[in-house]
Amino acid sequence: MDRPSTGPPPDRPEQEALFDWSDAAPRPSAFADSAQARRLLDVREVYAEPAALDSPRGRQIMARLPDARVTEVPSHWRIPSLHGNDGNVARWVRVKTETLVLGVKRTLETRPNGRSADWIAPGASNGCAMSCAYCYVPRRKGYANPITLFTNIEAIVAHVRRHVRAQGPKPEPNQCDPHAWVYDIGENGDCSVDALVCDNTADLIAAFRTLPTAKASFATKFVNPDLLALDPRGRTRVRFSVMPSADARVLDIRTSPVAERIAAAPDFLDAGYEVHFNLSPVVLRPGWQRDWADLLTHLDDVLPARVKQQAAAEIIMLTHNEQLHEVNLGWHPRAEDLLWQPAAQETKRSQNGALNVRYSPDVKRRSLEQLQHLLTTHAPWLRVRYAF
Ligand code: SF4
Repeated sequence: MDRPSTGPPPDRPEQEALFDWSDAAPRPSAFADSAQARRLLDVREVYAEPAALDSPRGRQIMARLPDARVTEVPSHWRIPSLHGNDGNVARWVRVKTETLVLGVKRTLETRPNGRSADWIAPGASNGCAMSCAYCYVPRRKGYANPITLFTNIEAIVAHVRRHVRAQGPKPEPNQCDPHAWVYDIGENGDCSVDALVCDNTADLIAAFRTLPTAKASFATKFVNPDLLALDPRGRTRVRFSVMPSADARVLDIRTSPVAERIAAAPDFLDAGYEVHFNLSPVVLRPGWQRDWADLLTHLDDVLPARVKQQAAAEIIMLTHNEQLHEVNLGWHPRAEDLLWQPAAQETKRSQNGALNVRYSPDVKRRSLEQLQHLLTTHAPWLRVRYAF
């Protein structure tokens, strides 16, 4: 007698696809294939865990990168030639532009937050192709960390769905949202950039479309017009991060210009996103009040009423880190003129031993009062959800 098979039929993938994917045919995409997109991300080299390569999502990603060189690695966490802070900025930028890592996310955990979002969902990526000088994402893998995409997106989506359903309806309004549980889906990267090479962002947006008690949320510094086709039906909040252009030119390396992010807001709203703004990070320096006033005036001038009616903002004062300060001095000391202000900042040892630097409570309180006054004067429609 034949023994019953315990594995999948030979013609079926080990990890059955939940989504309507095609491994072979790359999805037509206007922007991801453009020269503009390729200046940011032009993948030529892939480091991948074998299980990630074997997964449906891994196969789909690789089908779009037929010429990329592939190196198998035992873990996306330990790739000595990529990680750490040795090397100069030219190499970092090349790594971030040309290298992609594929891995499997082993621990799926949703953490409570309560500030920007109610919950932090397990991210579908880690790392970024952009190079903001204050970014905390490199804290574990080092500054040169390129995008790692997690290919077990079915498991991530199933985990989030279960978590949302277990909460039931939101019992009362809070600063995150009056009705929906808000899940941050992009804690350790930028979902707009991930979407240039992978459908993880699209799958998460599609999942939240069908979860009436919850909402996805992610901050971004990159305008990816391909996101306009994802039909979020109001269940995804995109938070465009903005800061005065004078700061962004020094600090927001490789991002979309701030004016471009603001100009994209009506298109994203019309495409079905909720559009908020992160006033972030607020960097204190001589003249900051004048430049923030100009930025808020610009928002008021260019945004149509329909964007203003639904907009809200987070204010996030700069937090810096001694280790990152040392790294930045090696490649971008001008950024440190803005970020490292010991007279106004105090240090605090974090749980993982890092020495974090933030404005002292007095400086922060006075600055937040000033910024709130600027908001009331120049953009009174911009409700502040929270300031940190
Ligand atoms: S866009 Fe976000 S994740 Fe990327 S480098 Fe800037 S701060 Fe870091």
